[in-house]
Amino acid sequence: MFESLTSRFSGAFSSLRSKGKISSSDIETTCQEIRQALLESDVALSVVEDFIADIRQKSLGALPTLQSGTNQANAIFEIVNASLIEILGGQARRVRFAKNPPTVIMLAGLQGAGKTTLAGKLAKFYAEQGNTPLLVASDLQRPNAVTQLQVVGESVNVPVFAPEPGNGRGNPVKVAKDGIEFAKSKMYNMVIVDTAGRLGVDEDLMKQASDIRDAINPDEILFVVDAMIGQDAVRTSQAFLDGVGFDGVVLTKLDGDARGGAALSIASMTKRPIMFASTGEKLHEFDVFYPERMASRILGLGDVATLAEQAKKAFDTDTSAKLEAKFASGEDFTLEDFLDQLQAMSKMGNMSKLLGMLPGAGQMKKQIENFDEGEIVRTTAIVQSMTPTERRDPKVLNGSRRARIALGSGRKVSDVNNLVDRFTAAQKMMKQVRNGGMPAGMPPGMAMPAMPKVNAPVNKKKKSKSGNPAKRAQEEG
Ligand code: GDP
Repeated sequence: MFESLTSRFSGAFSSLRSKGKISSSDIETTCQEIRQALLESDVALSVVEDFIADIRQKSLGALPTLQSGTNQANAIFEIVNASLIEILGGQARRVRFAKNPPTVIMLAGLQGAGKTTLAGKLAKFYAEQGNTPLLVASDLQRPNAVTQLQVVGESVNVPVFAPEPGNGRGNPVKVAKDGIEFAKSKMYNMVIVDTAGRLGVDEDLMKQASDIRDAINPDEILFVVDAMIGQDAVRTSQAFLDGVGFDGVVLTKLDGDARGGAALSIASMTKRPIMFASTGEKLHEFDVFYPERMASRILGLGDVATLAEQAKKAFDTDTSAKLEAKFASGEDFTLEDFLDQLQAMSKMGNMSKLLGMLPGAGQMKKQIENFDEGEIVRTTAIVQSMTPTERRDPKVLNGSRRARIALGSGRKVSDVNNLVDRFTAAQKMMKQVRNGGMPAGMPPGMAMPAMPKVNAPVNKKKKSKSGNPAKRAQEEG
């Protein structure tokens, strides 16, 4: 999303860091580079001007207090980081729960912004935290919006209040009102109201949204906006702010390759916090918005906090604890454990996205883009085609067993061989790590060396007679 911005920021800072001593004209050059980069990313001009004025003034102030160029560059980096966090809204804000349930969340935004999808994401997110949400289908305008919400609700196991078929029929204000009453009578503690959008901002849209608002008096009105619409996002959010009002923003389609300036403009233009970010069509591709993590990504520092959270979620505590206990007791890591790890990894979602959260991901852009997502699926299929005995003790895998596994998983025998070789090498490495001690609390999956190939550099220092990595490791070790 912010690749070009990240690489421009990195460029500006690496030239600053290369200086022995930073002068005020160096600061000016950096400010101009950053200014240009922000404008090219579609950040609104007024936001850019304020941002640049702020970092210029603070950097010039910090300059004389520091001796070395490196310290100066680091101080300027920190200033830029802090200012970025500031324009992204400062502190992350959470939904305010009503004192008397249900907490009512109303979604507003243009058609196609991603409201219905977001309704499902929010319902899933809050249900997982022990809440009992109800979805209310008040988008009676967009063809199939009601059915779409029902499908989404079913997939996340959250009930949908949908008394009207939609497609232009029914009264959305009444549906919203009745939905709240229904939620109260059935003791739901949260109601998420999906409303209609239009293709552009118009009076009817604003009137309907504000009528719904007046009828249900929501605790939170979330304005949902597609980050890919660039500068229009700022104009649209201003129109919604004037016409309906809102408490927080949800940015959707942050997975797109648009220039993403909207994200940097909206919070400071509307003075409303960005509360959630949506990064894909799937219902788990969504998170609370953290200004400091976003700033960190923009500056090329990655988003290790989110990565660690996702790993923690995917590697359920039981599996991790089982594996840690095995590890501690000196038992071997088996292909069964490996299968658990692979399945957890697929739960973590798109690998390229995950790798993109690593610090310095910008420099590995090509490799990350080329990451073969299918590799995990193919590897899983091979392990699943093995019998439990084979998974526990891969030494029994003779030629005919390997041929059977290849056939069962739709792969070639060489693929099976390759996997077994890599697994054996990994198993050996796990033993070595155990002997040297494993970092406490580290999710075992994060240390999984038998991963699908990520174009890791091969150590060619010493020529090995064997093409088998396991044997080679033995020869070398
Ligand atoms: P609504 O008209 O505001 O209710 O919009 P929808 O929820 O129907 O979303 C419009 C389209 O955008 C659908 O095809 C969604 O699958 C897609 N969509 C929603 N959120 C995201 C997102 O974060 N990333 C991407 N790539 N697509 C999204």
